[in-house]
Parts: sequence; C-alpha cells; structure tokens
Amino acid sequence: MASGSPLMDNRRLVSESNGVQTERVAYFRGKIVPESQVLISFRDSSAIHGEGVYDTARTFDGRIFKLGEHLDRLWRSMRYLRIEPPVSFQELEEISNEVARRNVAICNQDVWVTQRVSPGAPREFGGDGIPTLIVECLPLPFAMRSQYFKTGISMQTPSVRRTPPWALSPQAKTVNYLNFIVAGREIAAIRPGAWPILLDEHGNLTEGGGANIFLVHDKTLSTPRTQYVLPGITRSTVIELAISRDFTVVERDIGMFEAIQADEIFLTATSLCVCPVSDINGHTPASNQIPGPVTGQLQHAFSALVGIDVVGQYLDLIGTVPPTPPFTG
Ligand code: PLP
Repeated sequence: MASGSPLMDNRRLVSESNGVQTERVAYFRGKIVPESQVLISFRDSSAIHGEGVYDTARTFDGRIFKLGEHLDRLWRSMRYLRIEPPVSFQELEEISNEVARRNVAICNQDVWVTQRVSPGAPREFGGDGIPTLIVECLPLPFAMRSQYFKTGISMQTPSVRRTPPWALSPQAKTVNYLNFIVAGREIAAIRPGAWPILLDEHGNLTEGGGANIFLVHDKTLSTPRTQYVLPGITRSTVIELAISRDFTVVERDIGMFEAIQADEIFLTATSLCVCPVSDINGHTPASNQIPGPVTGQLQHAFSALVGIDVVGQYLDLIGTVPPTPPFTG
C-alpha cells in the first residue's frame, strides 16, 4: 500500500478496551474507522430506492479467496447500474485486504468481506452527492449454519418467481433482495426451516437468496445458466473442480421433474462453499446420503484448494447455537 494512504494514517482510530481492540472496523469516506462511525445519510440512494451494488468475499485462514473475481463482479454490477467506481480496482483490492486483515485479528476467526457502493445522497434531494463506498466484515456464522452440513438443507419453491433478466438482470449483485425476501417469508410461513429456491418465469430452477444450486445425475452435474442467476464465484470454482475430476458439467434449464430425479443436490455459496441439500419440495435425492458421494468429493476438493477443512470449520461448532434463518452470502 502506498505510504501516505488514508489506510496508513488511521490505524489508531479503532476503539480499544484495555489495549485490546474489540470493535470491528470498516472503510468509510477514505478512512478505516470503528464500525460505529460508519454513518450514511438517510437520503443515501441505496436506502431510498435500493440503488446500490455490493459484493461479498470471505477469508480462509485469514486470506481473502478470489478477491479479484469478486471485484470483477462488483465492477460488472456497477457498470450495469451505471454507477461510477469511486476508487480504482487496485485501491479497492488494497482497502479490502487491509480491512479484512484487521477484522480477522479482531474477530479471531474467518470473516465475510463486503464492498458496498452507491451514488450516495443526491444533491437535488439535499445530499452532498458524494458516492458511498463501504468495506466491512462480519464473522462467518459457522455455529448457526453447522447443522446443515450434517442434515442437509431443505429447499422449497415459493410462488414468487426470480426476477427475469428482461426486468432486472440477476447477474448484477444489487442491494435490493426483495425478490428473495418476499419468497423467504412465504416459505417461512408454510414450511419453517426450509430455504427458498426460486423458479424462473418458465418454471425452471434458479437460485436461493445467496446460493447457487447443482444437481447430480450419475457423473453429470447440472446447474442453471447464468442468464437467470448470479454467476457465483463458488459456482465457477466448483465447476472447475468438477471438470478437473472428470465430471461433466452442464449449464442449462432445469425443471422440477429433473430435480426430483437427482441422485444428489447441493448448494454453493461464498460462506457455505459446498453444502448438501436434503430435499426439494419434500423429494429426497436418490443417494439418500448427507453428503452424497459426489458432494462429499467436491467438499474435499474445495478444502484442498483453499487449504482448510471447510466442512470441519462448521461441524466443529455443531449444537452450540440455534440454527440461522435461510439467508447466505
Ligand atoms: N446467488 C445469489 C443471489 C447470491 O446473492 C449469492 C451470493 O452472493 C450467490 C448466488 C452465490 O454466489 P457466491 O458463490 O459468489 O457467493
């Protein structure tokens, strides 16, 4: 990082308690500050109209995984919304690494690392027109999600459909998740504990609120094509791992009939990596194992790639806290 950078100048701004730094820090308005000092205007365009984009990576053993790919996706989302990047790609890489480094030390565990961008509070609405850029971290909820690695996740299709690409492209990661939130509330009302898996306008599978889906039929993996889903960084990592292990991977439209015939089903997401699905609308995949053999193989391959046991990181904490509501990242 360049000397004289705001990151270097604000090392001491974090709160301290008996010399031990306790409050997480975030980047805001050119500085790294305690989270409690990140105060955006109530007229910020992201709060008023949901006009904003974000991306979320995570650390493995303290190091951010595929930060470049996450920032590429953030740049594509900004371009789609015609939001001018407030800093350069390289600056955001440096800021993200520094914010992650400090928060991993504070939390003493792996964290989500999120960049949030909005045009700020517009001048015509009384704001200062300065774009908002926040880089922040949260500890990954290993304990709350641990049971999913033992029992699998139940998936249920809501009546709400995934936003079609001709209305708003699912490939952009925007701050507006109402489509998933309304779907999630419907599922919570009819089948508590299940996670929503939204269908597209034609009745094909798309994705959950923070996860891509894969089906396994023999040695073939299928996953919905990216026109209808966020192109997950974990999704593409798993596609590469599967291909290198001689699986066939097909990106295609997948109807419920095919989902019901699957040997195995799993989700991919930054936090979960590769997580087994126990059923979809009550249909249990044919392998009837959690994880199924292919899912287990890919979990091992993922662990080898990132250098830590990604399933063990969850299972070590099983039973320590109640399970989490169904949103990932
Ligand atoms: N789909 C949606 C809508 C998401 O929000 C996410 C998470 O960001 C994913 C899929 C999974 O993407 P990734 O593997 O990059 O976390």
